[in-house]
Amino acid sequence: ANHLIRLLRQSSLGRDDDVFARQPDGGTVTFGALFAGAERMAAALAAQGVRPGDRVAVQVQKTIQAIELYLGTVMAGGIFLPLNTAYTGPEVAYFVGDTTPRVVICDPARLKEIRTICGAAQVLTLDAAGQGSLRDLADGQPGFDPVAREPDDLAAILYTSGTTGRSKGAMLSHENLASNSLTLRDYWQFTKEDVLIHALPIFHTHGLFVATNVALFSGAQVVFLPMFDADAILQAMPSATALMGVPTFYTRLLADERLTKERAANMRLFISGSAPLLVDTHEQWEARTGHRILERYGMTETNMSTSNPYNGERRAGTVGFPLPGVEARVMQDGTEVPAGNIGGLEVRGPNVFQGYWQMPEKTAEELQADGWFITGDLARIDADGYVTIVGREKDLIITGGFNVYPKEVESLIDDLPGVLESAVIGAPHPDFGEAVVAVVVLENEGTSAEAIMASLAGRLAKFKQPKEIILLDALPRNTMGKVQKKALRDQCAGLFG
Ligand code: ATP
Ligand code: MG
Repeated sequence: ANHLIRLLRQSSLGRDDDVFARQPDGGTVTFGALFAGAERMAAALAAQGVRPGDRVAVQVQKTIQAIELYLGTVMAGGIFLPLNTAYTGPEVAYFVGDTTPRVVICDPARLKEIRTICGAAQVLTLDAAGQGSLRDLADGQPGFDPVAREPDDLAAILYTSGTTGRSKGAMLSHENLASNSLTLRDYWQFTKEDVLIHALPIFHTHGLFVATNVALFSGAQVVFLPMFDADAILQAMPSATALMGVPTFYTRLLADERLTKERAANMRLFISGSAPLLVDTHEQWEARTGHRILERYGMTETNMSTSNPYNGERRAGTVGFPLPGVEARVMQDGTEVPAGNIGGLEVRGPNVFQGYWQMPEKTAEELQADGWFITGDLARIDADGYVTIVGREKDLIITGGFNVYPKEVESLIDDLPGVLESAVIGAPHPDFGEAVVAVVVLENEGTSAEAIMASLAGRLAKFKQPKEIILLDALPRNTMGKVQKKALRDQCAGLFG
């Protein structure tokens, strides 16, 4: 059997007429239609020469047909390789060159451009309405018997977001994906009674391997939205039970006065991840809706590793406990640090990927022989087991030989009146090596750089205080709501001569 497909299908077997997806135009897609569509995609890909282990690179808009393409690729024994729709031609060229896919699926509007960079690959199209040459080819196909695949075979290569450097291709096996989705389904108590608002992109682990897979694994329904849309989400809320979002979903919804306790009354779960959720957002959300957001932590390489509990205290500012079957530890200089101390976070479990595509040295550095994966995140595990992400190792500032954790400074600045949010980075400095720089976004009423500096003076050791405060209208963020500190560092590179 095909390991992942067999498990993905289990919860909807015998429920072919039940609705899987509700579309914005009022249309619905049943489980039967979804899997039949996936089989036709698989047959079309096989007809294009896709054999077990072949990569299928996909840069398309979010549609049900794109989900069918994901399932169809795995059914055909292929390796699904989704790409951010924002990637430009040269970026796509890099990923295609790196992974030599058998087939590339792109938007018809970019067919010419993509074809010139795809070498030997077949290029087919799929548009925002789910139409195109791939669909035409698929529509004429009969059913398809999923190709047998073992738990350790690859199901996907997912590129990391490129927040800290060039994106790396994380090789994910059938079992990596299956084990994590099953764990999350049970941990978050998803059942076929759930209706999940799905407004995340499906080229990233959050929307694809958390939201889509958890819905399929529980046989739940999704309200399938092409992108974040406050109107559509608020409209869906009274008849939905769960939302998965990045922190910016929550801050944007909070800015809408239609978000009320009454509107959220049918909801049982709001989940946040992919970037840190501010304690302030967590508190405002609870005050407005009566719900405590459940924050979890994961990454492309590991799917989800920790989560706040479903029952039990969801502690703001933390990412909860290691998931069942997943171990976590905090290390410094090769030894585990005592509870409450900061160090490098490592995780181990069936969720941890098989390595970086064609990067054996990097894989060996980060994925250790005993299975512990060095996440690159700095964290602290408290005596009662809650994990707090303190930031990324690469964002750690070393100034005059002292470590400064950006989050400590950011938290203090964020709490000041008149401040909306902040990002603290290190900029090259002739004397200190690096100097602390705070980039701050003010609220409407505002405050001043001088006032911020003055309030920090009494609370932070001198070496942690910003040498410079830069006011911006907004922090640079990617589609997943991640602050692009690299862009800020580049911008501040010349600040101190
Ligand atoms: P790259 O690895 O290419 O630099 P990236 O790490 O941003 O990019 P992803 O795999 O999409 O790529 O993101 C994983 C990272 O997101 C984690 O390592 C962590 O830094 C951050 N993250 C995810 N969830 C949370 C969370 N709840 N709180 C804080 N950080 C989080
Ligand atoms: Mg990363």
